[in-house]
Amino acid sequence: MNYIDTHVHLFVQAFAGDFDAVVERARKAGVERMMIITTDEEEAYRAMPFVEKDPYHFQLAYGIHPQRISKVTDEMIRKCDEIVRDPRVTAVGEIGLDYITDKERKDLQKEVFIHQIETAVSLNKPILVHSRKAIQDTYDIMKAHPSRGLMHSFGGSVEMGREFMKLGYYIVYGGAATYLNNRHAKEVVRDMDLRYLLTETDAPYVTPEPFRGERNEPCNLPYILRSLAAYRGIPEEELAGIIEENYRRFLGETA
Ligand SMILES: [Zn+2]
Repeated sequence: MNYIDTHVHLFVQAFAGDFDAVVERARKAGVERMMIITTDEEEAYRAMPFVEKDPYHFQLAYGIHPQRISKVTDEMIRKCDEIVRDPRVTAVGEIGLDYITDKERKDLQKEVFIHQIETAVSLNKPILVHSRKAIQDTYDIMKAHPSRGLMHSFGGSVEMGREFMKLGYYIVYGGAATYLNNRHAKEVVRDMDLRYLLTETDAPYVTPEPFRGERNEPCNLPYILRSLAAYRGIPEEELAGIIEENYRRFLGETA
């Protein structure tokens, strides 16, 4: 079975000590393709030669994470525009709104989000959207600024999920979808058009059951897929195949 991890922070400090082993364990577990998320310039530059060596198995994303909003400068934005233009960068993200981290700077968050959507559109690259406690504002911006991409770690309801899918966005679930109290994830997965579903680990964060509390790794992706397949009541193999195909479509490799 092949698995797809659309969101892994492979170049953070937490993996610096055993990077090769983490990648090897992921490949052994069947994690066929990974989108590497980088959230600062130095990380992005380190990841570029890595994905360049193996562009089928690894994709790269860069963006100004909303959690960095208090540190944002014009120079950071200019640099971001330059990095995402690089052909080794597949997607612009993670970008979006995070009202848990910073609800004082909502307007600035919106401004930076919109700027990055427009950059992505001009480059014809997808966006990876992070939204926490900000789903309505996120939606309003995405409706007003049409683009394509995915909703990372989707926390919204069935109704909200339908609205994002209507705009053409993929819905992504990770470790949090395996938690017993995640009612929304179960309801959305039961109801949705599976052609819009993708998976992620968000490693080293958001570790799925049964490893909650430990460092997360991309090799844990099968536990997430298993939960989603169970919610939907279909075989894991079938769902894995659908998600692999969805990712190819997301990347523009198929129609
Ligand atoms: Zn992330």
